[in-house]
Amino acid sequence: MNDYLLRALAREAGVRVIVSSNTDLAREAADRHSTFPIASIALGHALTGAALMGALLKVRQRIAMKFEGSGPLQKILVESDNNGRIRGYVSQPMIDLPELSPEQIAAALGDTGLLTVVKDTLLPELSESTVPLGSGDIAAELTFFLNQSEQIPSLIDISHTVDNEGNLQTVGGLLIQALPPYESDIVQQLRNNIQELPPMADLLNSGKTPEEIVALLFGEMPYKLLERRPLHFECGCNRTRSEQALISLGPEEIQHIIDTEGETVVDCHFCHEQYVFSREDLEELLDNF
Ligand SMILES: [Zn+2]
Repeated sequence: MNDYLLRALAREAGVRVIVSSNTDLAREAADRHSTFPIASIALGHALTGAALMGALLKVRQRIAMKFEGSGPLQKILVESDNNGRIRGYVSQPMIDLPELSPEQIAAALGDTGLLTVVKDTLLPELSESTVPLGSGDIAAELTFFLNQSEQIPSLIDISHTVDNEGNLQTVGGLLIQALPPYESDIVQQLRNNIQELPPMADLLNSGKTPEEIVALLFGEMPYKLLERRPLHFECGCNRTRSEQALISLGPEEIQHIIDTEGETVVDCHFCHEQYVFSREDLEELLDNF
């Protein structure tokens, strides 16, 4: 696995930059969910967003982002912790659209709907905020969220390249965020620097490293690299949790499964890991009620 992100800080200029190169985890998600190209790309962008937003968390905090749109993909849910463990799925992975243009990709999610961001900051209550979708473009939605809901001048940029069959070749993104007291227009300045560069996925595809991309972005500005964090697709599901999900159905429902199907398979939404429960397993669960 070659995925990682870099966190960099230009203290004097008052800005932090996060650059994420995460092709492998986006491809793994596409594989696990058997996505068609448009869904692979949209999910890949959302996973990149999760990596970038996860880099803003403190130790042991977690973030979940749910994009619910009016387009054919319906819903994309992604999660990240602050350790680079990321997972996600798309409701309709087998949507097939003829074109893979940015407009079409945004339309696959849809321009009407909601982005819900839930953070587990280790407080008794989860923090949840919701903003309306504007275009269906994942990076634009997250940029709007950070500026609007969190009131921090920020910019997220996510890009990808695909081969002739529409398979993901490169996926990456960056996040630029002003530091308090947010006095300068530093985000705008760096946005201008980005606009003079090729899209980030093209840079990665041509062999540029995240380190080199950070350097291109800052130009003459002095900065410090704070962290290099490996990223990977990882799901927290396991057999015990699947067992708990079955127990929560109640004894009558479990008896019903035994009577009708004999055994059952719990399929994880996030990673498609399958947990098989035989008749004996189910009967043992019943004994514990
Ligand atoms: Zn799982």
